[in-house]
Amino acid sequence: MKSVLIGVGQAGGKVTAALSDFDSRNGFGAVVGSLAVNSARSDLQSLPLDTVLIGGVDVSGHGVGGDNELGAQVMQEDIQEVLGAIDGRTTAEAEAIFVVAGLGGGTGSGGAPYLVRELQQIYDIPVYGLGILPGRDEGSLYQVNAGRSLKTLIREADATLLVDNDAWRSSGESLESGYEAINERIAQRVGLLLAAGEAVNGVGESVVDSSEVINTLRGGGVATLGYAAAEASSDAAMNVNVVTSTTRRAVRSGMSLPDTTSAERGLLVVAGRPDSISRKGVERARSWLETEIDTMEVRGGDFPMREDRLAALVLLGGVAHSDRLEGFLERARQAAREEKEREQEDDRSLTDDRIDGLL
Ligand code: GDP
Repeated sequence: MKSVLIGVGQAGGKVTAALSDFDSRNGFGAVVGSLAVNSARSDLQSLPLDTVLIGGVDVSGHGVGGDNELGAQVMQEDIQEVLGAIDGRTTAEAEAIFVVAGLGGGTGSGGAPYLVRELQQIYDIPVYGLGILPGRDEGSLYQVNAGRSLKTLIREADATLLVDNDAWRSSGESLESGYEAINERIAQRVGLLLAAGEAVNGVGESVVDSSEVINTLRGGGVATLGYAAAEASSDAAMNVNVVTSTTRRAVRSGMSLPDTTSAERGLLVVAGRPDSISRKGVERARSWLETEIDTMEVRGGDFPMREDRLAALVLLGGVAHSDRLEGFLERARQAAREEKEREQEDDRSLTDDRIDGLL
């Protein structure tokens, strides 16, 4: 699926850079344009991408410091410049636009939903959000920001693909030190999904097409992507179980939004050497997926690659239930309530001080 990627904020820019790099390193050609937008000049300087600095008037290149209302405001103020830069990078071949952002921060959290809304008014191709949820151990400001941002992003975007920052982190890897590794995994998995519709050396009718990705995401809401890979035999007949067990692993322990148990639509892409992909395995994996995620609408297709391993990539659109998402939303609501109580407390003590001062 030929896509234009717009990274907003620090995480958005870094993930966009990793995705663009993965795509060009592998010669897929699915990323047809990219841009990073930020209010922090220093975050932009380190990126191998074209960039737009926003909020020059309000924050002078210093960032919005986790204030996502300010993030939305600076995006709004400089929207014409951002749209102009995107226009120059969106050619007629583009099939989708992805706005990529960490939802817990300030610039990406506030700016991404606003940018998506503006892009929707201009482009006929789908505009998707690729949102990164803060990990469980991140502070309450991140949770509150992400809760607010997510709500708006879901409303504005054609679909919002969520990646939980805990999901693809290896055990023992701290979040900070692990960003690079996590970004690499996001790049590989989302990059494969985008490339799947571009199958370079693909022949045969079962090769997956961009329209299957778009149809899986049609209907909006939250989407999640799962991935797992395993060693495979060169003989397809030997790989029935490899395909089914890899698909099961992708869903049960490899999803970007863990514990997703039901969704409206699914897409199973099996990547590997065409003569090693077991048709029987793919059929079984698809019907297992229908039962597992509680839907009758599961598409399937191959992604021919010169790889000895087989990989299963599972895209779920219209996520109806995910324990992790429910848990996150509950934490975000709780954190918002606590923040409000703190503010009221501050107001009260301020008033008390004033009263004390008066008496
Ligand atoms: P912004 O620059 O104001 O938009 O803020 P950030 O992009 O730094 O957003 C903070 C959130 O993004 C937090 O939840 C961080 O855990 C996450 N984050 C920051 N940098 C990265 C990164 O490089 N990769 C990933 N996956 N998450 C990141």
